[in-house]
Amino acid sequence: MNKSPYEVIADEDVIASSDVVWHKHAVSHAERVDAKGHRPCVLWFTGLSGSGKSTIANAVDALLHAHGAHTYVLDGDNVRHGLNGDLGFSDIDRVENIRRIGEVSNLFVDAGLIVLTAFISPFQSDRHQAREKLPEGTFFEVFIDTPLSVCESRDPKGLYKKARKGEIKHFTGIDSAYEAPELPDIHIKTANRSVETCARDVISALMDKGIISTSMEKNNGAL
Ligand code: ADP
Repeated sequence: MNKSPYEVIADEDVIASSDVVWHKHAVSHAERVDAKGHRPCVLWFTGLSGSGKSTIANAVDALLHAHGAHTYVLDGDNVRHGLNGDLGFSDIDRVENIRRIGEVSNLFVDAGLIVLTAFISPFQSDRHQAREKLPEGTFFEVFIDTPLSVCESRDPKGLYKKARKGEIKHFTGIDSAYEAPELPDIHIKTANRSVETCARDVISALMDKGIISTSMEKNNGAL
């Protein structure tokens, strides 16, 4: 049987000291997945600030949850208040921020959940690193593709205004690069489209990829 992602991490990096002994779980990964009725995965939302990552991730989360899926959203701002509260925005801290999120996502996948992450994650290399941590077929890059001009006109947190005035340095899209995914697993264009339509497109993609099935509609009407 395939090793769970947690066991793979244990083999590769966690056992840094010979005094640390890996404790095998009494409940296997396969048993956890069987109990859920869907496959676990990470939906790694990436896009500019204001592109709609959090909004769409939460809309997808609500749809999945209403149909009995076990899910969790890891949101950039929330994670920076807790787990990554000690990290700033230097290049080293940004890399560490994404590394920790990748590790936490791994744990959620091991537990059998669908985890939705909403971080700008502007660099291909960081997203690649997160993908590498997860077993084949469990990491999906979701590109929330919204032109900078649209993000700037939405400016839900007033950050673009501040960045244009020079009050925020290294702001992605203004004076820091955003490397758009070349081949995203799921590609969502949001300009002139409703949140509901965008969320439904993600749900359809999850059905196509066999993560969820139409039988989930039994719980709460059609998904
Ligand atoms: P991000 O998480 O990418 O920084 P947010 O989700 O916080 O972005 O903000 C996106 C803003 O754009 C919200 O105010 C949302 O209501 C608005 N919006 C308008 N149309 C859409 C759409 N189709 N998809 C997502 N967000 C949209």
